[in-house]
Amino acid sequence: MQIRAPRLATPSALPDAMSFRLRLALLFVATLIVIQLVTGVLMYEVARRGVIAEGERQLAAGADSVARQLDDMSTRVADNVHVLALDYALRTAIAQRDEGTVLSALRNHGRRIGADRMMLIGLDGLIRSDTSDTSDVGHAFPYEDLVEASLDHPAAAVVALGSKAYWMIVVPVYAPSPIALIAAAIPVDDALLKHLQHLSALPNMLELITRNAAGHWSDIALGGERAVAPQVTSHGDLPMEPTVVTVNGYEYVALAKRLRESQRSAPVAVLLSYSLDDALQPYRSVTLAWGILLALGLAGGLVGAMLIARSVARPIEILAETARRIESGDYTPAPRMRERGEVGQLAAAFANMTHAIAEREEQIRHQARHDAVTTLPNRQAAEETIGRSLDESPQATGVLLMIGLARLPEIIQTLGHTIGDRVMRDAGARLRALADGASVARATDTQFSLWLIGAGIEEALILARRALDALVTPYREADISLDTAPAVGIALSPVHGRDAGALLRRAEVALIAATGAEHPIVVYNPTTDPHRPERLSLMGDLRKAVGADELLLSYQPKLHLASGVIDSVEALLRWRHPVRGLLPPDLFIGLAERTGNIREVSRWVIDRSIAQAADWTRRGHPLRVAINLSARDLDDDRLPDLIADRLAAHAVQPACVLLELTESAVMNDPETAIRVFGRLADQGVDLAIDDFGIGQSSFAYLRRLPVREIKIDRLFTQSLALDSSDRELVRSMVELGHRLGYRVTAEGVETVEALEYLRTIGCDHVQGYHIAKAMAPDAVEAMLQRMAAGTLAGVSA
Ligand code: C2E
Ligand code: CA
Ligand code: CA
Repeated sequence: MQIRAPRLATPSALPDAMSFRLRLALLFVATLIVIQLVTGVLMYEVARRGVIAEGERQLAAGADSVARQLDDMSTRVADNVHVLALDYALRTAIAQRDEGTVLSALRNHGRRIGADRMMLIGLDGLIRSDTSDTSDVGHAFPYEDLVEASLDHPAAAVVALGSKAYWMIVVPVYAPSPIALIAAAIPVDDALLKHLQHLSALPNMLELITRNAAGHWSDIALGGERAVAPQVTSHGDLPMEPTVVTVNGYEYVALAKRLRESQRSAPVAVLLSYSLDDALQPYRSVTLAWGILLALGLAGGLVGAMLIARSVARPIEILAETARRIESGDYTPAPRMRERGEVGQLAAAFANMTHAIAEREEQIRHQARHDAVTTLPNRQAAEETIGRSLDESPQATGVLLMIGLARLPEIIQTLGHTIGDRVMRDAGARLRALADGASVARATDTQFSLWLIGAGIEEALILARRALDALVTPYREADISLDTAPAVGIALSPVHGRDAGALLRRAEVALIAATGAEHPIVVYNPTTDPHRPERLSLMGDLRKAVGADELLLSYQPKLHLASGVIDSVEALLRWRHPVRGLLPPDLFIGLAERTGNIREVSRWVIDRSIAQAADWTRRGHPLRVAINLSARDLDDDRLPDLIADRLAAHAVQPACVLLELTESAVMNDPETAIRVFGRLADQGVDLAIDDFGIGQSSFAYLRRLPVREIKIDRLFTQSLALDSSDRELVRSMVELGHRLGYRVTAEGVETVEALEYLRTIGCDHVQGYHIAKAMAPDAVEAMLQRMAAGTLAGVSA
């Protein structure tokens, strides 16, 4: 018996274990990634802040330096213009209002100092000469603040003119008091800014920007490639403090510085910017190295995590595997684990639990497989044992003894179950004592089974004998002594079955036959087994067989020894089964008797054989026909009438019919036999006792029967040639038969020796294969013709 816990969803072993390990490994790796990323981000952020701080510092310094350099340059330029103002020729030309000379002098000087435009401004503030093509002569000079300031010292300021930036330098001309002013516009252009940027040797970018009327700042000169001013100042404010801005996805730190300017000019500022990406460039390789390290770390971490997960998960997997095995009924303990701590405790608890379950299941299993009274294995256990040993050695033979105590039900009814149990326990103990290698079990309430593998019929009979010897001694308790009436049925493997169920059933069938018999050991006989399954279908078929004309009669000749003439035949039934072919009567007569079909069959046989006798008589061969009757036929009170009716119908003399009834059929119910055969004898029909010698006939009854013939069973005649004791037996049977007034027929005569011996002792008729086998009616006729012609040798003599 298997005790199983109800199966809940049980996923297969592998994915579960994998997922546990995998989860563990993934957790490790995820932790590693997070730590690495946080480190990376922190590192980057620290680097970035450093870069920004450095950028800010550089920008602040750069802005100051650029502003100072621009101032220095403007001062130097102003000095140049001042030198120009001292020029005598120019002063004379101004004083004489020689326009032509002034203009050419201005042009010359302007070219020398790199000015785009030179102007002479009168003390009234009006432009008197102008080298520009778009001459503004006569107009007021726009930067009057510079004019005023220039009276103290050369005034210079950056002004935005259109889309360009200029230093506007104003210097008074003295003669010796101021007579006019010279203004020079020197461009502050890209080249200059580039120069300045170059000088600063910093990765800053310089831009010169101005604000238009709408308030937007825009570039008027660029020192580098990129212009960030439009984005940086998009809100209209200048970054007067270092500010981080993003332009086209790149980050910059930007800082603006207003330049010295004329109040009359649009505001001008210098914008310095510092690319964080460029500054972070050196960190790129660090980042790359860090990335490679991260990847390597991850790979290593993954492997490590798998290993750790394995070592952590392994014990749990082993326990899970053990649990699964327990579920399937396997209680082998889990392999020993070196784990300590919780897992170790769990493993120990598990081992204890496994042990306890195994023990309990063993207990239950034992109870389920054993009989409580005798403590012997029960029928199911016996079946399993037999099945197992047949599986293990399929070639081996085996014997199964079914030992029944026929009187046990009676004992229980009279003395109660307690005594009944004690009788069984005692019988079980006795059988166990003699078992000697055989498996003893309690097969049913009143039966024990004994199974011995590797044994044959001889061992079975010896074992059966010993079992009976052990059990015949009555059971004694206090002053009572109980005879249990033991009997043994034997089934052999493989002849009687190859599986435990079949063997047990067949041994039981044999036991039924043995119970109450004089010889209480019976080996299973398939031909008499009423429970054989094929019998069931035969039974159904037999009902149809009579009507379907499947039955036929064969006739075995009987030789009259004194005359050497075949004067009679025995009708022997055959069944031409549509599927199984020609069946001998042994296979279906017993069945027909048990199922109540025998009367119908007998009626058919009686009718056919009487008809055949009539036919032979008509053809000049008057033969007496012997008809076999079954014990069941005697129950039919109309049998004598039926036979009389048939004899009349076919116009056959009663003396032409001999009815055969076996010894045992007569003894089964002698009174009925006497009554029925009395009536038949009155009609002139003779009666023969069949199979004489093997049953226990009582001559007292035989004497009361109208018996005219006895047929000595072939068991005796077959051994006549060999056994002298059988010879004596047959001789005395013949003599006894004659003395009682019977004719004597010997059956089963197979040899010439038997025939000769029977002749010498005066036997009347012989029948057997040596004379002839059973045959078809025309074959009988042919044989008679050959004998009459003297061509058949060997039988008559
Ligand atoms: P039985 O009445 O003793 O019939 C003789 C059996 O012995 C026949 O078997 C026959 O074939 C066989 N036999 C004859 N000579 C020899 C011989 O020299 N050596 C051997 N070894 N055997 C020989 P069969 O035909 O198989 O019949 C078996 C039994 O079936 C008969 O035994 C009889 O009891 C029964 N039976 C046959 N026909 C009928 C029938 O029509 N009605 C009834 N009720 N029983 C029948
Ligand atoms: Ca017979
Ligand atoms: Ca016989």
